[in-house]
Amino acid sequence: MHTEKLKQKRITRINSKVGRDINRSIILNTVRKHQPISRAEISKMTRLNKSTVSIIVSSLLNEDLLVEAPDRGGGIGRNPLDLSLKHGKHFVGAISLDAPCTRVAVVDMDGTIKARDEIFTKAVSPDTLIPQCIGRLNALRSTLGPHRFHGIGVSVAGIVDSTHSRVIHAANLQWNDVDLGAKIREHISDNDPITVENDAKASALAEVLLGTRNTASPNLIFLLLGAGIGAGIAIHGKIIAGNTHAAGEVGHMTVVEGGEPCPCGNAGCWELYASERVPVRWYAEKKQSSPASQAALTLSDVFGAARGGDVHALHAIHLWGQHIGVGIGDMIRILDPEMVVVGGAITQIWDLVSEDINDAAWGRGTFARKRTTAILPTSLPDSPPLLGAAALSIRRIFEDFSISL
Ligand SMILES: [Zn+2]
Repeated sequence: MHTEKLKQKRITRINSKVGRDINRSIILNTVRKHQPISRAEISKMTRLNKSTVSIIVSSLLNEDLLVEAPDRGGGIGRNPLDLSLKHGKHFVGAISLDAPCTRVAVVDMDGTIKARDEIFTKAVSPDTLIPQCIGRLNALRSTLGPHRFHGIGVSVAGIVDSTHSRVIHAANLQWNDVDLGAKIREHISDNDPITVENDAKASALAEVLLGTRNTASPNLIFLLLGAGIGAGIAIHGKIIAGNTHAAGEVGHMTVVEGGEPCPCGNAGCWELYASERVPVRWYAEKKQSSPASQAALTLSDVFGAARGGDVHALHAIHLWGQHIGVGIGDMIRILDPEMVVVGGAITQIWDLVSEDINDAAWGRGTFARKRTTAILPTSLPDSPPLLGAAALSIRRIFEDFSISL
């Protein structure tokens, strides 16, 4: 009986701690989304009673996670004090691994990049690249004063087992089965949490956590267009991993039956018709220039020519938009999301391709009249995989209940 009572007491204590932790997370996230905001407004919005809000806010102020703005003043009596996230105090390390460009940054908990660097490299072994990344990250951190990281987030252009921080396959880097978490741990002295994720999934998380297109329970697909194509799928704000960690490998959907052969072993894959390499190739073929000048053409050249009214460049990017739209349409019909958010260089010419993408996505059938899913460029102000890497660690600040300073 005595033991039973003790057990019950312990369960009650655990439950009350869990309840307090959940309320803490709710309040912190409410400030993140609605700052500046007063205690009374938090109480109204969260339906938590005023004394609970007041106790938790005091604790968050003590932890330097929140800051209280000066009294708005001007009225009679006590005015509500606005609360915001405290800037310049809580940083995370972000590494976005890809070839030919790997990015590292120190990022504030609101997603502001405080310092950044880039490493240009071809496919290189993790034993070479990882020490370089950590070295650059530490150098950046030292420029900002004595800060420790709340964690290091790593996004990888490839298939990633996030649970075990392993890279299963990264085509551009030519990595297979790399225990990335362990390799990073070898080079850091702190016991910082390390989170590793696929770049498109991390980008989707950044859009949910740091973007301005946020809704209460976001159902969105983040389509990351680069040398390949990947998607991050958020259902009620949670990123779908997939049974073998490969959810969102949409670049290898077959869009042209009997089409061009793909390095994946299949043929007619979407990324052969819709990645960033494609408009460059189409434009070069039309221009019929020498092989050397064709090889030197970049995506920026094509965009510049299109803006200048070059018919071949305009044709290439409109056709590109149409091929992108076809795949987006298929994804919309599978998941019926609130929005499809697109990241990559294409956002620079969104005004020129938006109509092509939408028309191709919705087609001419019964779906054409509805257009219930918005197809939009990302709201992230910087590289989505880099902000995605940061978001992996920033999420811990807002969900992890055991921050100690
Ligand atoms: Zn393929």
